[in-house]
Amino acid sequence: MTDYFSVDIPVFMPDYDKEKLYGWSRYKDNLWDILKDTTSGYCMYCYDTVWINGQRRGQIEHGIEKVNSPEYLTDCVPNLGLACENCNGKYKRRAEEKRKLSKELLREFESVSCKKYACRIPCERYIKLRIEYVRRGKIILQPFESKAHENGNILKLRYDLLNGKYIPGDCGCSYSREELGIIEGHIRLFGLNSAERRNREVGKYCKNVIDYHSLMQDMSYDNLVVDLFRDKLKDLPIDDAVKVCKIIYSRALLQRAT
Ligand SMILES: [Zn+2]
Ligand SMILES: [Zn+2]
Repeated sequence: MTDYFSVDIPVFMPDYDKEKLYGWSRYKDNLWDILKDTTSGYCMYCYDTVWINGQRRGQIEHGIEKVNSPEYLTDCVPNLGLACENCNGKYKRRAEEKRKLSKELLREFESVSCKKYACRIPCERYIKLRIEYVRRGKIILQPFESKAHENGNILKLRYDLLNGKYIPGDCGCSYSREELGIIEGHIRLFGLNSAERRNREVGKYCKNVIDYHSLMQDMSYDNLVVDLFRDKLKDLPIDDAVKVCKIIYSRALLQRAT
């Protein structure tokens, strides 16, 4: 049975064009375009729109901050993601110092040379480094999947529409205590469930569905969660979809009041 009261946040997997080069110090526009297509124009960390009125509001950001290894991480393409100014400039900065990787850890990674602008898939050494970073920083890096161990589960998030908050997602089995700690740490780091970042778009969308008795297919909203939710509702007769929205909207009103 489909659960209409939660949505799974996807892992962002860019499908790079083999004919093109990408990077941070060069070819940034190419990268911007492909990452924007990958997320449909949303921030990889808070899922708010970074594409407003045909304007770029997002930034290319380094998953593992480039200060760890400027020469190797600055233009390693799979290390580059798309984030809004808040996520990149404010939230992700927090505890950046604590995540910093040691010289010993970096040595092995730096002994291979990254293809830089033509680097397309996370290489084995980068993955190792990334696992360390994810564990240390309790952060789910984007794009591509993040894990706490080589054979660990993919760390995923889910949005609970009834309670209006992000919770650990579905990995197909159950997360270990350590994995849950990372997911919860990630939610805290980005303030995803904080009052200031509360997702207001879902409530707005539900009210529109109720008022217009329509899934509002031609409208765009400022958060990916609405798109994911709308996709689920498509399977329902419109009367049932409206019922689901009424339940979520009344809960959202309650939460706003408290
Ligand atoms: Zn963001
Ligand atoms: Zn690389």
